[in-house]
Amino acid sequence: LFVEHPLGPAQTVPLNQAQAHYLFGVMRRSEGEVIEAFNGRDGTWRAEVIEARKKAGVLACVEQIAPQRDAPDVWLLFAPIKKQRTDFIVEKAVELGAARICPVVTEFTNAERIRQDRLQAHAVEAAEQCGGNYVPDVADAVKLSDLLDGWDETRRILFCDEGLAGVADVLSDLPPGPWAILIGPEGGFSEQERARLQRLEVAHPVSLGPRILRADTATVAALTLWQQALGD
Ligand code: SAM
Repeated sequence: LFVEHPLGPAQTVPLNQAQAHYLFGVMRRSEGEVIEAFNGRDGTWRAEVIEARKKAGVLACVEQIAPQRDAPDVWLLFAPIKKQRTDFIVEKAVELGAARICPVVTEFTNAERIRQDRLQAHAVEAAEQCGGNYVPDVADAVKLSDLLDGWDETRRILFCDEGLAGVADVLSDLPPGPWAILIGPEGGFSEQERARLQRLEVAHPVSLGPRILRADTATVAALTLWQQALGD
């Protein structure tokens, strides 16, 4: 269970209504049972349910069972697509260890309103499900051009586009360190966006192979290949 509260020896943790609903209503846990809790800072703890009510509850930390792990320093920048596929992208990015997830609005992005709070809640669920003990931040949607204007040039960009150098060749020549993976919308990038990215020294254009992948497939492929080459 993801909680905001500090976790530590003899620490008790109050649960809010949503957490109580999930733990006692959905997962059917009750007083005296032991669950796993994490907050993204203090590792994973075994914690006993000492109070289980419909709209609230309390946990008591028992022991730490895993130290805090940090995500490898790779961000996902992606152009949001249809709601369900965007949810899929967020879920898979969490499972594949993205440290930050940033929806970017490109020229050909064609998505409904992007709700950061919904996507962040989705990231929490994915982190709970996959047993990691950190939850990546989901940023507010930002225009790609604005993001690139303020880009910190110590962070390299794996710019996924068709018909370019193979991703394995590019990654094998480059050091670990802060990275971001950029995935375009269904309509791809505009020529201006390509030109802009090609002028950016830290952006490395790569192909994910000869087939045109859907944006959600491309996200999974790029994160997997990055993790294999430079992750842990
Ligand atoms: N531009 C294409 C078009 O309109 O025919 C399709 C874009 S594709 C559906 C969505 C995004 O996935 C692309 O912008 C790119 O970031 C990524 N992508 C898909 N296939 C790729 C490939 N073979 N190599 C690199 N990136 C790819």
